[in-house]
Amino acid sequence: MTELTKTLELKLVEPNAHKRRKLRETRKAYQQALHDAFDARCTTQTEANDVVVDYDLSGYAKNALKKYVPQLTTTYNAGELHDDHPVRFTNEGLRLDHKPGNAIEWYVKIPHHEDYHLWMPAQPNPEQRDWLEALNAGNAEMGESRLFERDGAWYLHVTATRDVEVGSEASAEDRTPIGVDIGEASLVTVCHRDDCDSPTAPELWAEEGKTVRRLRKTYFTATRRLQTRGSERLADSFGDDLWNQIDDVFHRVTREVVEYAESVENPVLVLEDLTYIRESMDYGEYMNRRLHGWGFAKLHAQIRYKAAEKGILVETVNPRNTSKECHACGEVGYRPKQATFKCTNDACWVGEYQADVNGAVNIADRYLSGESRSREHENDDDSAEDGGRLTAPQDSQADAEPQQETLGTYAS
Ligand SMILES: [Zn+2]
Repeated sequence: MTELTKTLELKLVEPNAHKRRKLRETRKAYQQALHDAFDARCTTQTEANDVVVDYDLSGYAKNALKKYVPQLTTTYNAGELHDDHPVRFTNEGLRLDHKPGNAIEWYVKIPHHEDYHLWMPAQPNPEQRDWLEALNAGNAEMGESRLFERDGAWYLHVTATRDVEVGSEASAEDRTPIGVDIGEASLVTVCHRDDCDSPTAPELWAEEGKTVRRLRKTYFTATRRLQTRGSERLADSFGDDLWNQIDDVFHRVTREVVEYAESVENPVLVLEDLTYIRESMDYGEYMNRRLHGWGFAKLHAQIRYKAAEKGILVETVNPRNTSKECHACGEVGYRPKQATFKCTNDACWVGEYQADVNGAVNIADRYLSGESRSREHENDDDSAEDGGRLTAPQDSQADAEPQQETLGTYAS
């Protein structure tokens, strides 16, 4: 069993004027309490409690503030706070109700004042329906939730945790390793070996590679131009929009990768270890990969997450030379063209081979050759929970930034 935590995204469906007013009241009271407790430099729950206790807020919001303010005052260096902090509620502050027969199926109860709450219809991120159902059925545990307004719409983000069964009973030798190669030309390539050990069923997401390259290029040229003209805000919102489009592509591809794995008996998805990529790659190879590095960790995080949800194992292996070795004889060959691998061993039957598929088979093979690394450090930056959202694409490996609450609702 593995414990997964996910942020569930709900959009409140067109609250009427009365409910909007109530939501704003809650936010206003919360912001005032937060600012006062912050300005008073409360560093303990007790100190924070003394400040927030008199505010017209529910106990869930007050308790969240008691936990949150000491975190802020001890880690946050700014002299004053922004006004855009979401309203936090401690776990169990919300209630869910499911009415499968209704046009809007989900309702949430949002704490308002001490004895007053609001029931509101909410539209979940469609990919997270099963999580809401698990919460509703008591099969997942609710954590903190955050309420915020963006572009005139209200959203709730709810943290949920549940146990999932990972992997079947099959031993490592009985598993079918599926190599996952992330590349520049083909965004992702997967392949595995059949019962006779021949590479079979390669799948390439080449069109998506083109799409992502195009979007990224637009992003860099356009935001640079807007920034030179001093339009930082426009650059930001344009960047967010492009990033959401890239993220949509990533989500579709990683979902299809996991579907591929589901079609294979006793699958294990094999990824290249990002730590190795950073630490032990030769310079030329590192620079080649670095060009698409910012998407690398993001795709990995999404694959891990979606695989875990389906109970599919994920393993990482040493990536050294996976793109340069021949999958048949192990000889280090070369790429006459981006998409072609050429084996230089005269005795080998391979000759020329699709380069990304060759890489994927090499990655798969390392699972059984003992070059795999089991992941004990599940919470490091490469396995960022929930796909670690980005504020914008970055031209580096370090793309598993902490989640941004104000961005990407429904996009992650
Ligand atoms: Zn060969």
